Amino acid sequence: MILVYSDHKNLCIELLSKATVLAKELNTKTAAVLIGKADEKTAKEYIAYGADSVLSVETDLKQYKSEEYASILQQLIKETNAELLLIGSDKNGKELASRLAGMINAGCIIDATDVSIADGNITAQRVVYSGNAVSIEQFQSTPAIITVPSKVFDPLPKDEKRKGDIKKISITPQHAASKVVKIAEKQAGGVNIEEAEIIVSCGRGIKNKEDIQLANNLAEVLKGRTVGCSRPIAADLKWLPEEHWIGLSGHKVKPKLYIAAGISGQIQHIAGMRDSGVVVAINKDADALIFKSADYGIVGDLYKVLPKLTEAIKTKME
Ligand code: FAD
Repeated sequence: MILVYSDHKNLCIELLSKATVLAKELNTKTAAVLIGKADEKTAKEYIAYGADSVLSVETDLKQYKSEEYASILQQLIKETNAELLLIGSDKNGKELASRLAGMINAGCIIDATDVSIADGNITAQRVVYSGNAVSIEQFQSTPAIITVPSKVFDPLPKDEKRKGDIKKISITPQHAASKVVKIAEKQAGGVNIEEAEIIVSCGRGIKNKEDIQLANNLAEVLKGRTVGCSRPIAADLKWLPEEHWIGLSGHKVKPKLYIAAGISGQIQHIAGMRDSGVVVAINKDADALIFKSADYGIVGDLYKVLPKLTEAIKTKME
């Protein structure tokens, strides 16, 4: 059995697509795990997106605590004899996976960029050394626990006619030793860069905070309205909030069109946007690394190119 869990529905759906391929190779089945209030709608969606079954663990847990969730997954692994557990690699997922691995003495790979079967063994790839190398890793024990970030795998097409079991399971989670004192919502500007289809990104080629408006203008005419940036713009200069930051330590994006203006193309930035569809780079340095990752390159000053491009696209869109 391959178990798939994420507290983010879309991420769980992405993982199900890879789980389906792996299950065929391992001659086994997939089950999506739902923890919390009964949610038949989501369970049905999981089946439509490839799950053979859904294990719905109904709990009255008020808040997420990794100890409790890990103990639930521990019991599910035991009951299903699961050989692989794919977990969404977000903040909760990474903590959950490593805690669970510690509890059951299992191997755990965090932030895999691919999962496959090689010579009958579950094999995962992950980027190491700030994106300069790829490590290929296998497990010496079962179950294998792997976390995968969003946008690594594409979901399968939705098939509402697919049939699968929705099993209600009753598990009393282990008592948690920790308590949540307070949860404060992070101030966010309403940008969900990971879901954006068109991103105009800017880097240190921008000289002043106000000039980000040039990227905004282009994003606006492209109807993408999403502006991204390299790390210095968000982390060092704080000209844009962190939710715009793209790269190894920022967000991983997969838009249809990615325009990079004044970004040098260091590997840590590329790590966050390499899966983009069409990449357009604007840089005044013809030797800038970004051109190696671009489908179209414009060698020029972004202060001249961005307004011209915006104007040209505006005319075309009218
Ligand atoms: P620069 O490297 O300074 O490049 C600016 C570019 O703008 C140059 O290519 C220049 O030719 C061009 N330019 C200048 N003026 C103009 C103009 N007028 N018109 C056109 N082009 C112009 N970086 C990220 O982005 N995301 C990450 O998640 C990330 N994570 C990191 C994690 C680690 C562990 C480390 C060590 C680094 C990380 N970095 C990350 C930093 C990364 O290594 C680079 O330093 C960073 O991406 C550089 O940002 P930049 O391209 O905007 O700036």
